Amino acid sequence: MPKHIVSGLNYLATIKLRKEGYLQKEISEILGMDRSTVSHYINGRNISWNSIEIAEAITNLCPKDFLKMTNMLTKDCEQTRVLIKILMERKFNPIVKDECIGCGLCVDTCLMKAVKLNNLKAQIDPDWCCGCRMCESSCPAASIKILEVKNGSK
Ligand code: SF4
Ligand code: SF4
Repeated sequence: MPKHIVSGLNYLATIKLRKEGYLQKEISEILGMDRSTVSHYINGRNISWNSIEIAEAITNLCPKDFLKMTNMLTKDCEQTRVLIKILMERKFNPIVKDECIGCGLCVDTCLMKAVKLNNLKAQIDPDWCCGCRMCESSCPAASIKILEVKNGSK
């Protein structure tokens, strides 16, 4: 069953990318799937609608549960971060305050690989941040704030 649900997530990602104008070849490269599977998804063939319903429910979980559930199902960090990046509708603005002591705990915590250390200060790439807030709770200096971006404003 987990494999079917991952297929449901891949299906949703395929349809979303297609609507954004990506070609079958590009979708296949982004999602690491063969082109015939992409073609089946686009044409509505070989699809388990039950799995798609479950996948849709997963995308509606809070960001942390969406991320953790997807990672548990794929068992593949890279596949997880690509799927989350495509399917996460919400946008976040991560802020690192001056109190950062450069311990690197947030780098290890972030499943999206959105955090790097630069001159012993954390830097978070908003393009990859999915708002799970796991870095916030791991930070010993309470120096991370994850704000949701609503209607283009913070
Ligand atoms: S966990 Fe906090 S203190 Fe440590 S590097 Fe990240 S932001 Fe800085
Ligand atoms: S909230 Fe923190 S841990 Fe989660 S994706 Fe953003 S930077 Fe990574």
